[in-house]
Amino acid sequence: AIYIKVMSNKNKTIHEFDFNLICEYFSNVKRQGPGSPEATIRALHFIDNLTPQSRIADLGCGTGGQTMTLAQNAPGHITGLDLFPDFINIFNRNAQALGLSGRVKAIVGSMVETLPFEKESLDLIWSEGAIYNIGFEQGLNEWRQYLRKGGYIAVSEASWFTPQRPAEIYDFWMAHYTEIDTIPNKVAQMQNAGYVPVATFILPENCWTEHYFAPCCKIQQAFLEKHQGDKIVEELIAGQRLEMELYHKYKEFYGYVFYIGKKI
Ligand code: SAM
Repeated sequence: AIYIKVMSNKNKTIHEFDFNLICEYFSNVKRQGPGSPEATIRALHFIDNLTPQSRIADLGCGTGGQTMTLAQNAPGHITGLDLFPDFINIFNRNAQALGLSGRVKAIVGSMVETLPFEKESLDLIWSEGAIYNIGFEQGLNEWRQYLRKGGYIAVSEASWFTPQRPAEIYDFWMAHYTEIDTIPNKVAQMQNAGYVPVATFILPENCWTEHYFAPCCKIQQAFLEKHQGDKIVEELIAGQRLEMELYHKYKEFYGYVFYIGKKI
């Protein structure tokens, strides 16, 4: 999950082919970050005013694992947006296969630029494990203009569970995402950005283990063998394995938290 951010930050210096490799790897799994259908549905339960006319955006949608769950459990039109065209192609193929393409489509775009939506037009902004690409606070502040009054935002974000934490995991996060913070601090940021904090909940462990790490583990060996000797692939898999090892060691200190807010 972190790797996608590291690579996209450096996108001016990395050869196109490297991106293709990273996309090829993550295209083989349903999710590109921690989460589960149950967690998506649980977050959706806090959002009370969707209708078939509702406009929903899923920012940093990846291949759309969570978007399809959203579409199967909520009315309205959903637009997924992601930086990587390969992910968007898979997303749209899946929407078609599930018979959802009449109201669910994805487009290539960047969440850090002007979004392709009218001001005050969206009823719901969704973003699972992706707001870190713009930064939690900046994302909440900038995306607010696209929501109508009373519209909702639902995002999952890396968060500390305790006031203190061991140096090894602290240093790891500081190297990758300095905005990781405690739940009360994130809730305060949401309130300061002009939302009523409606709910927060910690994603259960199986969102990491069963739904993210296990499917990735299954494809790693074959991917390494296919691209034998490729340094980028070795680095990608090593990064993933480190992320998994650290999660198992320090999961009582951090995880992903869903934050749901209502624009006032
Ligand atoms: N939401 C998906 C999920 O939960 O499976 C994907 C999460 S993945 C950790 C983060 C996603 O953000 C990737 O699909 C990546 O391509 C996308 N991304 C990175 N930078 C982005 C940007 N500037 N604009 C839009 N999407 C971006």
